[in-house]
Amino acid sequence: MENVLEAELTLSSSSLERGLLEPLVDRVASEALQRSLGARGTGSLSSWAVNGDRITLTLESEGGRPHQALLAMVRRLSEELGRSQKIGVRAVRALRYRVRFAAGGAPQKPISLPLPHTLAFEGETATLEFTDLPEEALRDNWVDRAVQLVVEKVKRQGYAGKEQYWSLLHPASRKEHVGTHDPTEEMLKRSWVRNGPTKGKWFLGPTAAHLFRTMERIARREVLEPLGFWEVVQPHLDSFEILQKTGHLEGLPGEFYYAAEPTTRDPAQWETFTDLVKITHRVPMEELKRLVGPPSSVLCYAQCPTIYWWLSGRTLSADSLPLKIYDRTAVSNRYESGGRHGLERVDEFHRLEPVYLGTPEQLLALREALLKRYAHVFDTVLDLEWRTAWVTPFYLQQSGGVGVEDVKERVKGTIDYEAYLPYRGDREHSEWLEFQNLSIVGDKYTKAFTIRAQKGELWSGCSGIGLERWLTTFLAQKGFNPADWPSKFREYCGELPTDVEFL
Ligand code: ATP
Ligand code: ZN
Ligand code: MG
Repeated sequence: MENVLEAELTLSSSSLERGLLEPLVDRVASEALQRSLGARGTGSLSSWAVNGDRITLTLESEGGRPHQALLAMVRRLSEELGRSQKIGVRAVRALRYRVRFAAGGAPQKPISLPLPHTLAFEGETATLEFTDLPEEALRDNWVDRAVQLVVEKVKRQGYAGKEQYWSLLHPASRKEHVGTHDPTEEMLKRSWVRNGPTKGKWFLGPTAAHLFRTMERIARREVLEPLGFWEVVQPHLDSFEILQKTGHLEGLPGEFYYAAEPTTRDPAQWETFTDLVKITHRVPMEELKRLVGPPSSVLCYAQCPTIYWWLSGRTLSADSLPLKIYDRTAVSNRYESGGRHGLERVDEFHRLEPVYLGTPEQLLALREALLKRYAHVFDTVLDLEWRTAWVTPFYLQQSGGVGVEDVKERVKGTIDYEAYLPYRGDREHSEWLEFQNLSIVGDKYTKAFTIRAQKGELWSGCSGIGLERWLTTFLAQKGFNPADWPSKFREYCGELPTDVEFL
C-alpha cells in the first residue's frame, strides 16, 4: 500500500466492554475510509488492538491519504462510545505515518525537512515516513504540505544555478554618454550624500534630494497621472499574516527587517535601563532584550502586499475596474547584506508602486499603456540608454505561459527595465542595472486575499519604480553638469539648491 498510518488513541477510561468494541471499530473504520477516500482511492483497517485506555490501529490506503479517515473515525468512536459507555477519545497521535508519492524527479542531493523523518527515493518515487506526529499535524494536513515541499525542493534542485529566465524584449538604442564615474562616488565627493547612520541607508542632502524628488515628479506627472492612477497612503509595517498570504514570508525571511515592540511603556519598568544609560553611556543590551518583545511585524519590503490587504475580502464594482492606485509613502527595506553597492543597492529605498486590478483584457491593455508612457519618459524626458527583458524565476516557468518564446503568449510575468552604466565597463560585458519592473501576476494575489470582481475573472499586477535607481542611472549616463542634461529634464528640475559648503 502507498500510505500506512499507525495511530494511537487515548480513551478517557480503561474500563471498556471489549465485546462491544470489536464490531464498532471495524464498522466505524470502514465507514470513515469510504467517506473520506470516496472514489479517489481505497483503504482498509489492517490491524488494531486495545490495551488499557489505549487503542492502537493501522490504516492503509491507496490513492488518497488516510489521516482524514482516522479523524472521522475518532469522531464517530467518541460519539458512539460516549453514548453507550460514557467513554470518550481524549487524544490521538500518529505513531508512524508513511506515504509514497511521485516526486516529479530524482533528487540530486539530500533533501532536508524540519520535522523528524526518513526520506528515501527509488528513482522518482519518494517514501517519506514521520514518527510521532501530534493531532494538530493530522488535522492541519502537515503531511500533505511536507509532500508538496519535497516535490518543490526536487524541482528547485533541477533549476539550481539558472535562477532566472531572461529574454530581450525591447533592445536599447545606443547613446553617447558624458558620465564615466560611479555616481555614488561622485555624490560623496560633492557631499551631496552621506552613508547613513545604520547599514545600507543614505542621507540625501538638499541637492541630491532635489534631483530625487524631480524623478518622483516625472514619474507621477508623465506616467501615473496621465494613466489615471490615484495615490493611496499605506502603513510602513507589514503583518506576518499579509506576508504569509503573498508567500514572501516563506520565500524571503532572510531579507526582512523585523520590527519589535516594547513589552511595557511604564517608566518604572524602564528605570534600570535609563539609569544604566546615564551611568555607563552604553546601550544596556541585556536589559533591552528583557524589555522588548520578539518581532511582531516586518518593515515594508514592497508596497503591494499591504495594498492587497486593503482590498481583502472585498468585491470591486465593474465601474471601479480597472482599479489603478499607487503608494509612495511606505519606504522599502531589505537586508541586502553582501550585495549592497552605493545608492544602487541599498537596504532602505524609495519606490512608487503602482498596483492595478482588472479583467485580463484590461490589464493587458494597461500594460501596453504603461510600456508606452515609460518609453516616453526614458527616451524623451531622461534620454537614457535602456532596454527591457522578459524575466521569470526558472522554477515558475512551467505555469501560465511564463518564459515562453512566443511573445503573444507572454501574459503573466515580469518585464525588467535595465540601464547601461558606463562606469561598469563596455555594453556587452558589464552588468546592466535593473532600474524598475512591471508585472502581471494573474489571479495569484486576488485569490490569496479573496478580492473579487462584480463579474468575471480578477487579475492584478504591479510595477516597482525605484527612485534611487532612476537617479543613479541618470547621473551615471548624463553626468553631473546640468548643461549636459536633456531640456525636458531641466524643465522639471528647475534651479538646483546651492551645494552646502562644509569647511
Ligand atoms: P534586484 O534583482 O536588483 O535585487 P528585485 O528584483 O529584488 O531587484 P523588485 O522586488 O522587483 O526588485 O523591486 C522592484 C524595483 O525596486 C527594482 O526594479 C528597483 O528599482 C528597486 N529595488 C529593489 N531592490 C533595491 C535595492 N536594494 N536598492 C534600491 N532599489 C531597489
Ligand atoms: Zn509589487
Ligand atoms: Mg532583490
